[in-house]
Amino acid sequence: MQTNALGVPAWPIHGPEEAEAVQRVLASRTWWRGSGSECDLFEAEFAKFLGLRHARLTSSGSGALEIALQLGDISPGDEVLVPACTFIATASAVLRMGACPIPVDVEAETLCIDPEDLERKCTPRARAVIPVHMAGQGCEMDAIMAIARRHGLFVIEDAAHAHGARWRGSPLGGFGDVAIFSFQNGKLMTAGEGGAVVTNRDDLAERSFALHSCGRPRGDTDYRHLEIAGNWRAPELVAAVLRAQLARLPGQLALREKRAPVFDGLLARNPRLRPLKSKPDTTLHSHYMAMAWVDADEPGCIDTADLSMQLRRQGIPAFKCFPPVHHTRMFEPAQLRFAALRSDFKFPDYRSLTTPVSEAAGKRVLWFHHSVLLADEAVLEKLATEVSRSLGNFVPTKNKEMVHV
Ligand SMILES: *Cc1c(COP(=O)(O)O)cnc(C)c1O
Repeated sequence: MQTNALGVPAWPIHGPEEAEAVQRVLASRTWWRGSGSECDLFEAEFAKFLGLRHARLTSSGSGALEIALQLGDISPGDEVLVPACTFIATASAVLRMGACPIPVDVEAETLCIDPEDLERKCTPRARAVIPVHMAGQGCEMDAIMAIARRHGLFVIEDAAHAHGARWRGSPLGGFGDVAIFSFQNGKLMTAGEGGAVVTNRDDLAERSFALHSCGRPRGDTDYRHLEIAGNWRAPELVAAVLRAQLARLPGQLALREKRAPVFDGLLARNPRLRPLKSKPDTTLHSHYMAMAWVDADEPGCIDTADLSMQLRRQGIPAFKCFPPVHHTRMFEPAQLRFAALRSDFKFPDYRSLTTPVSEAAGKRVLWFHHSVLLADEAVLEKLATEVSRSLGNFVPTKNKEMVHV
């Protein structure tokens, strides 16, 4: 395994299987799914791996979210509840469909959506909820499904971090009406970009084909465009690489399950570092990220953007946590003008909407990429010591450059 100087495995991990997959598709000259079989095969293999009936491969997880919202018949003005603490795609997909995201706070122990705040934020206009299984830990699905039933919500699980993860023994991605996955470069399996919509519902699976392919049903040669839809198809090359990546996943999941508690324990030797909890209901945690709260020695004097940048310079793949979605420029009135399809639509006053845990997490949670959890224990020991030392010496550099992960 290739590693950096500190012993952290280089990501993505690949080998002769991926090389053979690319070569196979190149030679076949069937580079798109219309004439090939790799996308069909990957969809069948991924669904089988998850223990679900259907998977639809897309060109990104963001696209998969837009398809999922269309499958829920979400229309302009509908409210969709999303965690405030998540990657922006969970919320931006809602805006792009002309609907209205309602940020819900998360639980401090897991950074998963807080069912109590979810219940509080449901209005008669609420039509859907998108729980995000943060870092591969399952959300409180019993409570969320009960709330969804009471309020008639369509449930879209954002499982972009949760390939193969299980909650009370069942696969994440199988609890709601549909779920989405991402195969972007940093995710647990990847072809650089890619995503999937998965479901147990036959009706939604059939519709998802047209929705990912310009509104055309499978096999269409007559330019029948049944629904308003974009082109979210992934190429055959992506599917072929993902088939090889899927074969690697179970071994990597098992190794991360072993390493994660070790790394958490090493970090926790420093009382200012508090790793997130793994709740026992998450019977298989996929550990997309190893996350920890960083306590300041004085209030207001920790900046995980700065600290993580210093760590990355030393070869440790550490990052700051997501800011609350509604604190980004995307949610300022000047941008929302373009989101609303009805010009008279009134968005909530996002500036006055408070989600205290998400706000704190955006400043004080540090996360490590899962490649770290594939390293030897001796490497983990070295990394934890280095993180602790950097935290002790930490002086903010006032360098506010944006970090893209
Ligand atoms: C990565 C990610 C997505 C989808 O992202 P793409 O880059 O479009 O594949 C969606 N939700 C979450 C929580 C993510 O981390």
